[in-house]
Amino acid sequence: MSDTRKTRVLIIGSGPAGYTAGVYAARAMLDPILVQGIEPGGQLTTTTEVENWPGDTEVQGPDLMTRMEAHATAMGCEVIGDIISEIDFSKRPFVCKSDSGTLYIADAVILATGARAKWLGLPSEEKFKGFGVSACATCDGFFYRGQEIVVIGGGNTAVEEALFLTNFASKVTLIHRRDELRAEAILQDRLFKNPKIEPLWFHTLEEVVGTDSPMGVEAVKVKNVKTDEITEIPCKGVFVAIGHAPANELVKDVLETHMGGYVVTKPDSTATSIPGVFAAGDLTDHIYRQAVTSAGMGCMAALEAERFLAEAE
Ligand code: FAD
Ligand code: NAP
Repeated sequence: MSDTRKTRVLIIGSGPAGYTAGVYAARAMLDPILVQGIEPGGQLTTTTEVENWPGDTEVQGPDLMTRMEAHATAMGCEVIGDIISEIDFSKRPFVCKSDSGTLYIADAVILATGARAKWLGLPSEEKFKGFGVSACATCDGFFYRGQEIVVIGGGNTAVEEALFLTNFASKVTLIHRRDELRAEAILQDRLFKNPKIEPLWFHTLEEVVGTDSPMGVEAVKVKNVKTDEITEIPCKGVFVAIGHAPANELVKDVLETHMGGYVVTKPDSTATSIPGVFAAGDLTDHIYRQAVTSAGMGCMAALEAERFLAEAE
């Protein structure tokens, strides 16, 4: 028999947006339930140093998220390890079903499902995922001690991944389709000063080349976007860091989205097109996509949910 849990506010997601919403909703005496999803702690658990979280000159991403969870729990937010698989927002109270079979019945919902890594979509990338192709240097970098590695992308993630991977790799080639990075200046400065990192400008990944038995990567074929010339770079690891897309699977058919799937919220608000459903963090933010902005939106969502419930009741 399935379990049923009733709550005034259900928070879906355990990144900075979700946990901050948990702190605020709990302090508003709303007895919130927060469902963590497949990645407890969210994207910051896949990185190392975070240097732009106010109050901490430097903090490890996983530590910060453990502290946020403890903070939400201490304030009275119930944190549950489960994954929401279906939602019914057609009437209030809202019903959300989880992988464990639990039905969560909520007067208001805060969506904070964040974003997930994008992939290039190459068949060879798919084939070698988990066998030399990765989107998480913190998770997999250790496997490439003394090896040559390539990183694809030119944003903050790609540069951070490249820098982190120099802790293990003998050489890191950063492959970027332009000759300009969009990563912030301080990261670019560190990248260019690092003797283990070699940027390869105006190139795209064409194919991951490897062996079937044992499964493993041996090289990448890259294309010069100006000349179309294909060259091969020997490497054992390929880290794809070309950005993130909003995790909107639960709501993309019921809520308005824009700019590639980000949930639309009302101006200066986290209210979505359904009264009582709020969205916060990277799920709705195609511009800033930072921990601190996500946390800020989590705060807004909880305050708005509190106001909504007070008016509704
Ligand atoms: P996320 O952190 O993406 O968390 C989403 C949560 O939703 C996860 O817990 C997931 O399990 C949950 N979820 C998803 N689907 C479901 C479901 N169906 N049911 C239940 N739960 C679900 N930002 C900075 O400010 N500073 C940095 O130094 C920094 N470094 C970064 C390094 C890397 C490698 C990456 C990838 C990002 C980095 N960012 C950094 C960006 C930052 O991590 C994000 O902006 C922030 O984590 C977004 O928070 P969020 O709460 O919106 O969602
Ligand atoms: P991003 O900023 O969107 O950068 C993606 C990079 O991948 C860009 O350089 C882009 O190239 C390249 N790219 C995209 N699609 C590609 C394709 N199909 N083929 C080849 N290259 C492709 O993504 P991100 O670096 O993951 O960052 C996401 C957000 O998280 C940002 O807001 C970022 O600030 C934040 N973040 C912050 C930190 C930090 O504060 N330290 C760390 C990590 C992430 P073009 O440049 O040519 O478009």
